[in-house]
Amino acid sequence: MTDCKHSWMRKGKKLTLDTILDEWLGPTLALVHCEKCSKPALLHLVTWRGRDLSERIYAIRHIDSSTKNTYIANINRDYCDLSRKASETEALIGACSQSARLVLFTSPGMIVKGFSRDLFNPPVMRWQDVKTETYDDWIRFLSI
Ligand SMILES: [Zn+2]
Repeated sequence: MTDCKHSWMRKGKKLTLDTILDEWLGPTLALVHCEKCSKPALLHLVTWRGRDLSERIYAIRHIDSSTKNTYIANINRDYCDLSRKASETEALIGACSQSARLVLFTSPGMIVKGFSRDLFNPPVMRWQDVKTETYDDWIRFLSI
């Protein structure tokens, strides 16, 4: 499974998200899975630029299937309780892998444009705190 060339490592691939947890002019925090090996992952926005902020670099972190399923069950059950949902999401983020692959997508449609060979651990932040100024710093780690 470690050898899988995951869906988000195939240039030109249109990624289908399972659940969008937050968004601004497109997804900023979402759950996804690899179409080939079914491995679930969390995707969070690292930086963005361009018209409508359509060029977006995300970090993709693996999560256990059981952790993801528990999270989905919990947020569906407590759907009306927003503070509960926030703390569940925080716990989910904490349970993700510490190393993340960086992937550049263009929206609309979440098309894979490039990804990093190495793994990184960029901070998980709210989209309100994500900066366009850091785009050039991150893009150099990606092969486009
Ligand atoms: Zn895979």
